[in-house]
Amino acid sequence: MEDSLNKCWHNLPQQQVKDLLNSSIEQGLASEEVSLRKEKFGLNRITQRKGQGPLVRFLLQFHQPLVYILLAAAIVKLILGGIVDSSVIFGVVVINAVIGFLQESKALSALDALSKSLTSETLVFRNGEKQRIDATELVPGDIVLLASGDKVPADLRLVQVRNLQVDESALTGESVPVEKRIDVVEQEATLGDRVNMAYSSTLVTYGTAVGVVVETGDNTEIGKISELIASAEILDTPLTRNIARFSQILLYAILVLAAITFAVGIWHGGSMVDMFMAAVALAVAMIPEGLPAVVTITLAIGVARMAKRNAIIRRLPAVETLGSTTVICSDKTGTLTRNEMTVCQVWTAGKQMQVTGTGYSPDGEVSLGDKPIQLQEEPQLTELARAGLLCNDSVLKQVEHGWKVEGDPTEGALLVFAGKASLQRQSEADSLPRIDTIPFESEYQYMATLHRGNEAIVYMKGSVERVLASCSTMLSDSEQQQALDADLINKQVETLASQGLRVLAFARKTMAQTTEGIDHADVKEGLEFIGLQGMIDPPRDEAVQAVRACQKAGMRIKMITGDHAITAGAIAGQIGLDERLEQGQIPNTLTGQQLTHLSDEQLIQASLDTAVFARVSPEQKLRLVEALQASGQVTAMTGDGVNDAPALRRADIGVAMGQTGTEVSKEASDMVLTDDNFASIKAAVEEGRGVFDNLLKFITWILPTNAGQGLVIMVAVLLAEPLPVLPVQALWINMTTAVLLGLTLAFEPHEPGIMAREPRTPGTSILSSEILVRIALVGVLLLIGSFGLFEWALYQGASIEQARTIAVNVFAVGQSFYLLNCRSLRYNMFHLGLFSNMWIWVGIGAMAFAQYLFTHNPLMNRLFETAPISLSDWFHIVLVGFAIYVIIGAEKFLRLRQEKRQRPLEVRHS
Ligand code: ADP
Ligand code: MG
Repeated sequence: MEDSLNKCWHNLPQQQVKDLLNSSIEQGLASEEVSLRKEKFGLNRITQRKGQGPLVRFLLQFHQPLVYILLAAAIVKLILGGIVDSSVIFGVVVINAVIGFLQESKALSALDALSKSLTSETLVFRNGEKQRIDATELVPGDIVLLASGDKVPADLRLVQVRNLQVDESALTGESVPVEKRIDVVEQEATLGDRVNMAYSSTLVTYGTAVGVVVETGDNTEIGKISELIASAEILDTPLTRNIARFSQILLYAILVLAAITFAVGIWHGGSMVDMFMAAVALAVAMIPEGLPAVVTITLAIGVARMAKRNAIIRRLPAVETLGSTTVICSDKTGTLTRNEMTVCQVWTAGKQMQVTGTGYSPDGEVSLGDKPIQLQEEPQLTELARAGLLCNDSVLKQVEHGWKVEGDPTEGALLVFAGKASLQRQSEADSLPRIDTIPFESEYQYMATLHRGNEAIVYMKGSVERVLASCSTMLSDSEQQQALDADLINKQVETLASQGLRVLAFARKTMAQTTEGIDHADVKEGLEFIGLQGMIDPPRDEAVQAVRACQKAGMRIKMITGDHAITAGAIAGQIGLDERLEQGQIPNTLTGQQLTHLSDEQLIQASLDTAVFARVSPEQKLRLVEALQASGQVTAMTGDGVNDAPALRRADIGVAMGQTGTEVSKEASDMVLTDDNFASIKAAVEEGRGVFDNLLKFITWILPTNAGQGLVIMVAVLLAEPLPVLPVQALWINMTTAVLLGLTLAFEPHEPGIMAREPRTPGTSILSSEILVRIALVGVLLLIGSFGLFEWALYQGASIEQARTIAVNVFAVGQSFYLLNCRSLRYNMFHLGLFSNMWIWVGIGAMAFAQYLFTHNPLMNRLFETAPISLSDWFHIVLVGFAIYVIIGAEKFLRLRQEKRQRPLEVRHS
């Protein structure tokens, strides 16, 4: 083989493709061949081409209004001969850019690592065996099996297809799925017309296929255009956009204020140069430089925390939206339940029998009442077990510690039962080899297989409703055919389902010996009912607790399932989805069929009132999401199948299953649960609320610094006093406090009661009136403290440098104390635990050291025009800071007390 294969694969006859790649469909590649090719072709992975190189990202750090203002100031200073001053400003600008760059890089690489941690698996034929491998391990010549819901793992030439449809929008932009065939296509055909190829990264929306890998990694079509779609990680959420808009407005306001200050200063008789510096100082002081960087970091920390709790965020805005989620629509099977299915009751030919044994080990017995069953005497039971064994795509494997199911746990349970009924898979499959399959799809609720031994026979398994609809007769305990008694069977199903059992029905039909394949039409009628298998799937303990916690947090939990209404209702009762269910009533269960009769308005009401939706098809999930959204609910919806994709995309938070979910559903989701567990949704909501809290704390904390400094400068100009804070000093304060103090709030753990309040109303302004009042209050306190001590120091005969050093230190110390207030917007820090966030103290310590240098180090004195101050000055400064802490603490206390009186429920946790 040549190094780069790059042939016109679509134009070659199948045999030539296989010859070229030296591969066979029946056997696949052998292990040795795979390792050889892996060395030659490398991993099947597209080399990441970064959206923006590091240099560009570094330069972009200078593309900020603040930097322009500073550079202008530096140049003016330089012209006026202030070399030291202007180089300090230049230095600060560069340091600012470096810090911004480093923080952004860290956040980006954290997000990048997360997106890579979601690997995708693929099914291949190697050494004559089906294997599930990591898609990056594929080499040219591998035989890949595709099924509906898969993401195509490499460029494949198709050799067998069955109703295959592929969504190629990732490649061609065409959103209508393409039907695939295996015929040779002419050489000039464009990508979209090469119907015998399946290209990497496209999605299988329907059917199954077998294909030979022809290109991997960067040689795939998607690899070749990957520059065009380079992962453009954008740190963009509604909140960051809000903040960007806010900053813009702030900037104009600041420029206007600066202009006014300049004009007023001149009018007061100040010199042009002095007043220009005052205006610059005002602008520098008032712009919150640290804001965007800290917001990014806080979001990234939130994403990392969620990942630790098994929720991988795929779209950043979800972090915020999670905090305001009001409704969670969850699957039942596997998410609320353990998905460890065990058949425990079977029914056939009028007899209900019990099955013993736990887990996937096929050791156990079938008994009728207390008496063990003699299997030889129960041919119907054996037939029931055989139907479950043959009409099955999963594999039961013995591993080191017991048994494991590869595939659908529902099917695994059937295999285990067949084992208990003494059936051997190999010998059954040998006497009745499978010719054709109609795979299970949630929409159709059944699966059927065609087998040919001495006779051709179809086995069908699926939901009771669906299977019964196809049956006209049923197995009886005699040899004779018996007419179907649907009432008898349905009564039996009700008994089983009301215990929370998942019930599957089985049927069979003899076909003409020459039948080559089957279709939905072949199993529409004329089948013979074999029996029922009922399996338990206990609720997850964590899910029960998580549901309770979510309800306490003001969210409604709804179960959306394809399972039987009575089974779903019983499980919902065990989980405690709805108080009405706990009281033994099951009024609010709606089935998919009932939903179809509801008008859109009725559906909106029903979507709010009903806790359990059973036998729901994926299309109805979409309707439900839309109905919930129409009444203003922020909806999280789980899903795992191909057809769930529209509902996942439409939901405010689409949640896909990491283990059992199809690639299609993952692509459509905002968040993937690595453990498929409902409890992880709760964890993500909790983290989402925490992130939003911390962002709000940071904003509440940072804005007063800017407000206070701005006020000090304006008052000084209005009173024609010397500037208490110089531009470089303002810059110093803004940068050191944001990085050393403000950032520590991002590490604040959740407040008590975070899951005991109502969800945040989306779209409400970030800055509530309470917070604005607090910002203004702190701003004024800082003004009084800093301007007061400044004037007093001058009055006492201190030098202007000393007075300024005091004024600047008031901001540093005041913000350190106020940081303690901001650890929570409602509780005091003793309630939170003094040391529950050690970073706060580390930050304050670092800040103290920085201010010590700023004040007492000769070099710093020269650079920043500061001067050492006395111990009693320090004492006054700390006193001001402490006063701020006490006053804001009192304000918070009063507000919390008032809030408790008005809304006792929401703050019951304090
Ligand atoms: P859910 O995952 O919400 O429980 P599904 O859509 O997977 O629901 O299944 C719906 C119904 O289809 C089940 O109640 C069962 O009767 C039937 N079913 C589930 N899995 C299979 C399968 N592998 N083969 C045949 N029928 C199945
Ligand atoms: Mg399912």
